[in-house]
Amino acid sequence: MSVILTLLAALIATGACAYHRSSLRTWAIATVIATVVVGLIAGAPWTTFFLVVIELAIAVPLLMDGFRRKQISAPLLKMFAKVTPKLSETEQTALEAGTVGFEGELFSGKPDWHELLKQPKPELSVEEQAYLDGPVEELCGMIDDWQITHELADLPPEVWAFIKKHKFFGMIIPKSYGGLGFSALAHSAVLQKLATMSATVASTVAVPNSLGPAELLLHYGSDEQKNHYLPRLAVGEEIPCFALTGPYAGSDATSISDFGIVCKQVVDGVETLGMKLTFDKRYITLAPIATVVGLAFRLYDPEKLLGDKEDLGITLALLPRSTPGLEIGRRHFPLNIPFQNGPLHGKDVFVPLSVLIGGPHMAGHGWRMLVECLSVGRAISLPSNATGGVRAAVAATGAYARMRKQFGLSIARFEGVEEALARIGGLTYATAALSRATAAAVDRGEKPAVPSAIAKYHATEWGRIIAGDALDVHGGKGVQLGPKNYAGRAWQGVPIAITVEGANIMTRSLMIFGQGAIRCHPYVLKEMQALSIPDYGDRLKSFDRALFGHIGFGISNAVRSFTLGLTGSRIGDTAGDAYVRRYYRKLNRYSAALALCADTFMGVLGGKLKFKEKLSARLGDVLSYLYIASAMLKRYEDTGRPEADRPLLAWAFHECMWRIQTSLDGAIRNFPVKPISWLLRVLVFPWGRREVPPSDRLGRRVAAIITAPGEARDRLTEWTYLTPTANNTIGRMNALLPDVIAAEPVERKFGKAQKSGQFKSHDYVGQLSEALQAGVINAAEFELLKRVREGVFEFISVDDFDPSELGAAVTRADRNKKLADAA
Ligand SMILES: Cc1cc2nc3c(=O)[nH]c(=O)nc-3n(C[C@H](O)[C@H](O)[C@H](O)COP(=O)(O)OP(=O)(O)OC[C@H]3O[C@@H](n4cnc5c(N)ncnc54)[C@H](O)[C@@H]3O)c2cc1C
Repeated sequence: MSVILTLLAALIATGACAYHRSSLRTWAIATVIATVVVGLIAGAPWTTFFLVVIELAIAVPLLMDGFRRKQISAPLLKMFAKVTPKLSETEQTALEAGTVGFEGELFSGKPDWHELLKQPKPELSVEEQAYLDGPVEELCGMIDDWQITHELADLPPEVWAFIKKHKFFGMIIPKSYGGLGFSALAHSAVLQKLATMSATVASTVAVPNSLGPAELLLHYGSDEQKNHYLPRLAVGEEIPCFALTGPYAGSDATSISDFGIVCKQVVDGVETLGMKLTFDKRYITLAPIATVVGLAFRLYDPEKLLGDKEDLGITLALLPRSTPGLEIGRRHFPLNIPFQNGPLHGKDVFVPLSVLIGGPHMAGHGWRMLVECLSVGRAISLPSNATGGVRAAVAATGAYARMRKQFGLSIARFEGVEEALARIGGLTYATAALSRATAAAVDRGEKPAVPSAIAKYHATEWGRIIAGDALDVHGGKGVQLGPKNYAGRAWQGVPIAITVEGANIMTRSLMIFGQGAIRCHPYVLKEMQALSIPDYGDRLKSFDRALFGHIGFGISNAVRSFTLGLTGSRIGDTAGDAYVRRYYRKLNRYSAALALCADTFMGVLGGKLKFKEKLSARLGDVLSYLYIASAMLKRYEDTGRPEADRPLLAWAFHECMWRIQTSLDGAIRNFPVKPISWLLRVLVFPWGRREVPPSDRLGRRVAAIITAPGEARDRLTEWTYLTPTANNTIGRMNALLPDVIAAEPVERKFGKAQKSGQFKSHDYVGQLSEALQAGVINAAEFELLKRVREGVFEFISVDDFDPSELGAAVTRADRNKKLADAA
């Protein structure tokens, strides 16, 4: 017994030091003291002696810097250099672009919640709010999405003119260049509100404000280029597009086969240094109507006119539409969301070097320029459009499910529908928090490479789930397209968001964890960077520091993951109020588990992990759900811990924890080295898998929130266009919702009388009149039921068409003939 007590004392001291990340010196002192005190009190002198010898044998050599570096770190450095895959230039550039924000804490295994909560609450300025309440509101009032998506396959001229006049294309352009100079939050809010009315309008506005000519010029343009283009872009005098993608370069954008050859040509009698460009681009948004084309290509200088390099690399230029040889104007047709999108081509198009963004000295820097700017646009455009879409789904589906009656009840009362409504409400809460957190990171000056990928992936994937649920709840009403259908086009268009700006499968499998692991890990990048230090002594010193930091980090995460798992996340640092304290502790647990698994996977699989995309994707999911859950907790704090929001927060939080557990379990179960997989299972799930998905009861509370007006629903539908204008069915449905709810008890009274067979009339209004005369309902109730019946009829109605209205204006035969004639 005395031996066990002594061993236990040493073990507890070790565990406590590891848990709190104490230094090696502290560990040595604490364990020796614990061993000696408990060992001597318990009466186990020999055990104490042997344990102290072992403890000192570990600590002393490790504490002797010179010995440790020479005997341990040096051979490990050799091995590490051999097994570490060399980062390609592209990967190196991607890693160097971007910053690490709170996601770094989540990857640390010991997040500092005060860092999260001390971040300023994101808020719109007075001017930005006025813009939302003014031009954005007005633009929403002008949108007829059926006219755009079916009749015109374009925005009507007055909408184009309004967008340009009110500088919707200049949100990211500073005021000094005539733009709006908006914060990322305002930019996001504008896109969200537009997306509630039309995915086509929102996409059209998103693109010039995302990665493209304006942003590239702001960062790299020469003064002349900035002064020329930015004021014109701000007011839509110039319409930009940015062309990277081609038939052979999709997800792997670096493999573009488009090229430019530096050469001289006589232009207007003057010999001009320039380049001949040959390119074949497709899928380019706004290209058909663009007046200035941002073009990415690989630049070669075979005659060495610019220097001694022949292959200069990826380069970016701005080509005016009038450039001779630039073929542009045809359109693609992306899933019935007809924003302007099309191909562009050119062969041996000569342009002067002055068209290079930033001037000739920026030749070959194109890839760096792109990745440095990518994260900001990706953090805003698609997450905001998706968030606008899901907020509109809450407003529309919540109201529709309450007013649509079948089997004598609101369909919202059926548990099957309730399940879909709960998903819509819970996932919208999470998506909105995620979108806001990522915009706030941009406003804090971060370049959130990993969060932007998380936001892009999850906002659009959840958008897909919610769009599907919304359509299911609407039944035939969602399926029959026409001016009365507000849900079908949103559902159709979701895959566009899934595909663009890094298609989702690749974003999940390759980018979130791949970049997150190296970028956010406190030691991996340092170890890799140490390899490139030229002086051996400095290299060894840096590597040694990173390596032993890393080992301590790994041990600590194993202990933390196990301890927090063993206690069911009941101990540890926390924040917030009593309602969410446990949530922070759960996040501590899974943060430690992620850090432990990430280290183990990287340590055992090394460079091969890059190709084990299914493992990498699952660990990426864990990081994502940790990030999303943190964003929700921050939002809860920022909004003053509203009690009304708790069911939404709880539903979304438990969903995230359930998904974290599923992802961790999948990653560990499929880890190829079985003994390690077994060990990880014990350390991560000491009691097995205990997380459960949100309960049915919680789901019912969420469904209740989204089917009745209230403060939580108002927050969920923030920045949704709900003005009950003629063009806004969702707005009018929501305006009727209070009446629909007020009518419910009256309908029950009336229904009872109906069932008793006391009415002679067969039509509804006739029966209502009889009910009034019989005193079953009073005059006000009569008016209410009549008003609701008429209002609801409008919303459950669908469109029908004369067959001639549905044929295409131009048949395929006409089109082929036209193409043949042109050829
Ligand atoms: C409507 C629309 C608008 C667009 N606008 C523009 C624009 O304005 N400018 C521009 O330059 N481009 C634009 N794009 C291009 C867009 O960014 C690309 O379509 C996208 O990057 C994917 O390329 P791809 O379609 O060729 O798919 P592919 O690269 O062929 O990919 C097919 C599938 O394979 C997956 N995949 C590929 N590599 C991997 C990997 N290593 N690991 C796991 N999965 C992988 C992808 O995720 C995808 O699911 C647009 C595209 C669309 C559809």
